[in-house]
Amino acid sequence: MPEIQGGCRCGAVRYKAALDALPPTYACHCLDCQIWSGSAFSQQIFLPEAALAVTGPVVVYEFTTPSGRTSTQRVCGVCHSRIYNSNSARPKVAIVRASTLDRSNELRVVAHIWVKRKQHWLTLPDGVPTWPESAPATELLRALTQPRARRLPRAVAHAAARTASHSFRRRPLQTNCCRLGLARE
Ligand SMILES: [Zn+2]
Ligand SMILES: [Zn+2]
Repeated sequence: MPEIQGGCRCGAVRYKAALDALPPTYACHCLDCQIWSGSAFSQQIFLPEAALAVTGPVVVYEFTTPSGRTSTQRVCGVCHSRIYNSNSARPKVAIVRASTLDRSNELRVVAHIWVKRKQHWLTLPDGVPTWPESAPATELLRALTQPRARRLPRAVAHAAARTASHSFRRRPLQTNCCRLGLARE
C-alpha cells in the first residue's frame, strides 16, 4: 500500500500513514482551533491510530476535558508543532492536523464546523456542508465519506465507522469545540 507521509515544522518528527489515498478533511473554525493553530481554522483528518507510524521526539500533552475525558495531544518536542490528538471517548482514533501532511496542498476540505466563529473575511464555497457549531457526528461522518469525497482511503472509512459506532451513538454530543477529537471536549 502506498504511504502518505508528514511531519512537523523542523523535521524531527515524521510519520507515515497507511493510506491508499489522501483523505478528505474538515475544517473547524472554533475559537480553540483558532488559538491553537494561530490561524483562521484547523484542518483535520480521521485515522485509526494504528495506521500511524510516528518517529522522533514526540511529547505528549494531556488534559482533562470538562466532560471528564482525557485529551491527549502529540507535539514535536523540538519545534512544538502539533501532530495529532486522541480522546479517551474515542479510543484508537487519531485526529491528525492535516497540514502536517507532505502533500497538504492537494487536500480538499469537504465540511466546515463551528462556522459561527468563522473569520469574517473568509467566504466558504457553495455546496460544502457547514454547521454553526459542532456537527452531529453522523452528519459529519457522512460528509467525510460521501461519494463526492471520492477515493476515500479505506483506513479513514474504517476510522469513521469505528468512531461512530464506538462513542457517538452512546452519548449525546456536547456543544463546545471539536467534538471529533480536538481540545476541549
Ligand atoms: Zn519539530
Ligand atoms: Zn475546533
